[in-house]
Amino acid sequence: MKKLTPKEVQCDCGHTFTIDRRRYWCEKCASPVYYDLKEKKHHKNNTIYVYGVFLGVITFLTYIFVELIVTPYMSF
Ligand SMILES: [Zn+2]
Repeated sequence: MKKLTPKEVQCDCGHTFTIDRRRYWCEKCASPVYYDLKEKKHHKNNTIYVYGVFLGVITFLTYIFVELIVTPYMSF
């Protein structure tokens, strides 16, 4: 990972500390703190995207399950 210029950041809990990495864990509340606030937003968007894909997979699997397993039994 590329080293960054040490920068002072403030966590949501109010704890202030210096980081030289893109992501760091707050020593007080153990929540992730980002070097760049924009990155935090980007990370949140990524999380929503992952949830979307996950929901899609679950829906697809449910569909497959109903089509292949439940429907043949129903036709008897
Ligand atoms: Zn904190």
